[in-house]
Amino acid sequence: MRARVATGAIDVICSLHLVRELCLVSDSTSPSRVVALGRGLAGRCPSCGGRGIFAGLNDLVEACPTCRFSFVREEGYWVGAMIVIMALVLIFFGIWTVGGILVTWPDVPWTPLLVGGIVLNLVVPLALYGWSKTIWVGLDLAFNPARAEEFRLDDG
Ligand SMILES: [Zn+2]
Repeated sequence: MRARVATGAIDVICSLHLVRELCLVSDSTSPSRVVALGRGLAGRCPSCGGRGIFAGLNDLVEACPTCRFSFVREEGYWVGAMIVIMALVLIFFGIWTVGGILVTWPDVPWTPLLVGGIVLNLVVPLALYGWSKTIWVGLDLAFNPARAEEFRLDDG
């Protein structure tokens, strides 16, 4: 079990880019499952919590600018993000539909609910796919901790 003080000190050193190798030789920078997932949900680097990882609305940079963790961990990696975005669509669609029925019962406006549901199914994947990527990386890191070779030190 890691000591909180030591982990915090290493996180600070890693975030300041002073001794990157220290981050790689020690697995103490591996976040806990809750922290990795929380960082992914917050749209931050699940490995270090750093910001600036979006290259656009739906794109991530290749590697975290803070800890240099490479986000694409294997070929076809973003299939997991597609599963996450499908789950997000289901959640938003379920909230919209069930919430709409509950709020307007017994005079449910079926046509506006249907049209709104269709719009949600179109807009959510386009607007939140980038976020689904950080959630996916967080989920993956929660169960498959980062290996030293997944941090890119060569391109500075
Ligand atoms: Zn990072």
